[in-house]
Amino acid sequence: MQGQNPRGSKGRERAYRGIGVSPGVAIGKAFIFDSEEVVVIKRHIDPSHVPLEITRFEEALIKTRQEILNIQRTIGERLGIKHAEIFNAHLLVLEDRSLIEDVIKKIERERYNIEYVFQQVGDKYADIFSQIEDDYLKERASDIRDVTRRVLHNLLGKKREDVSRLTEEVIIVAYDLSPSDTALMHKEKVISFATDIGAMTSHTAIMARSLNVPAVVGLRDISQKVTSDEMIIVDGTNGVVIASPTKETLRRYLQIKDRLHGIEERLVSLKELPAETLDGYRVALAANIELPEDVPAALAQGAEGVGLYRTEFFYMNRKDLPTEDEQFEAYRKVAEGVRPHPVIIRTLDLGGDKFLSNLQVPREMNPFLGYRAIRFCLGQPDIFKTQLRAILRASILGNVKVMFPMISGVDEVLRARELLEESKEELRKHGKKYKDDIEVGAMIEIPSAALTADIIAKHVDFFSIGTNDLIQYSLAVDRVNEKIAYLYEPRHPAILRLIKQIITAGHRENIWVGMCGEMAGEPSFTLILLGMGLDEFSVSVVSVPEIKRVIRSVRLGEARAFADEVLGYSDIEQIKARCKKMLLKVAPELLELKGGR
Ligand code: PEP
Ligand code: MG
Repeated sequence: MQGQNPRGSKGRERAYRGIGVSPGVAIGKAFIFDSEEVVVIKRHIDPSHVPLEITRFEEALIKTRQEILNIQRTIGERLGIKHAEIFNAHLLVLEDRSLIEDVIKKIERERYNIEYVFQQVGDKYADIFSQIEDDYLKERASDIRDVTRRVLHNLLGKKREDVSRLTEEVIIVAYDLSPSDTALMHKEKVISFATDIGAMTSHTAIMARSLNVPAVVGLRDISQKVTSDEMIIVDGTNGVVIASPTKETLRRYLQIKDRLHGIEERLVSLKELPAETLDGYRVALAANIELPEDVPAALAQGAEGVGLYRTEFFYMNRKDLPTEDEQFEAYRKVAEGVRPHPVIIRTLDLGGDKFLSNLQVPREMNPFLGYRAIRFCLGQPDIFKTQLRAILRASILGNVKVMFPMISGVDEVLRARELLEESKEELRKHGKKYKDDIEVGAMIEIPSAALTADIIAKHVDFFSIGTNDLIQYSLAVDRVNEKIAYLYEPRHPAILRLIKQIITAGHRENIWVGMCGEMAGEPSFTLILLGMGLDEFSVSVVSVPEIKRVIRSVRLGEARAFADEVLGYSDIEQIKARCKKMLLKVAPELLELKGGR
């Protein structure tokens, strides 16, 4: 028997298995964050209960209004008034007379419970707006859905707490977390994540790694099984979440936590040392960041610069677009923070699983194959050039390079370069300074670009291999779908061959080749990549010391021989076994940190 509690018997130890995406162990209180699905039961009510249901409805509207005003105030204080204005539209939905009257008429006429009636009316309104051929009105559909969910949470008495004002340390348990959810979180108080859906390269996973907190995703229904405030253990190393652990389990995990902590401390002590092999061959080891505030942590872990600055986070949680000056301020901060080391600023990569609040981009059937990244930027030259001008202005304040995402062929590079030249011209006209020979790179993350890397290499100064997308497009595996996560395999011979081909093509044209996808931060792949000739590894902040540890433990010749050997295998299992054995030989404690993978 699972017990009476619909979320699973609180108080009894239960274990849930998912995908460990950020290693380590966290022990703490669960915080159920807005489980995506609001389950509403349809039930007839007695006519005498109608006034009571209407009163509940009015109370829920008032409570929701108060909640939104609180969030608006917090966002206003943290991110500025413009970001806070996004919630004005939500407040308007709550005051919409026709919606409220429709709900009241329907409950009086049909006599169903208020949750059911309100959901029906809310869905109808959202559907009507989503079908209107006007991007602004279409956007109202998502406001209505968001507000409907909030009101339903209040009617159902579910906590939808404000994660921007957490007062104690918690483990966030959710159906999924969007980049805009995580942007709002009070990060110092979040010690771990556990979500129902997701895979290794979904943004919850990337965010968890960059915050250096353990995380398990793809847990199917954890957000329904655990209650708020229940004690849970997240074992991100082994992909397990344990709810209401027994004393014995808790004791065992506290020991593991201590041991892992010891290993991590030893790794961070490598901070000041270069990323070079035993025989003195040096590579660049940089960090991936999403916000200027990530720079100190990256440097503290020993990163020599930023190999990927994902700028799209700048565009999120707001109704308007960031101005050139606003962007310049952020880029300047990063450039000055990491100099003399380089920062590679990647131009806006929206789309896929990263959507912006109000960029008037219609929803698509296949967002990962759609109007995203460089395609969007080339289609919206004003937005693109605003960003390019900001990057160019920051280029004189540090070692700044610019990189274009989702390049599918050389034509896109040429067009992007044209727009870069136009941006320079515009700055010149206004007497603004920039670095004329700023290095320009292409992300190689689409198979067509990998296969034509020799052509593209003639027109850029460097490549950065984006394995997160390269793998999903080459193997036809959606990178955020946990059902097919087992097929998402960096060690697939096809992927290894493509990487080798990209590096060779780059080197033939005398340009350097880096990697900023998550594969670069996985210690069991480091030897292969080093042996294939990768010049730069850009990894999540937390992985910097691990990768350095591997690089500093081998000779270049050993890595080359290993890469050649592995490229000769046809069987993924064989490759996996060899990688594991090799890591066990060169840095066994990392295998422990990674749970033996
Ligand atoms: C990639 O695709 O590997 C990459 C680094 O970019 P993102 O994860 O932001 O798509
Ligand atoms: Mg990508």
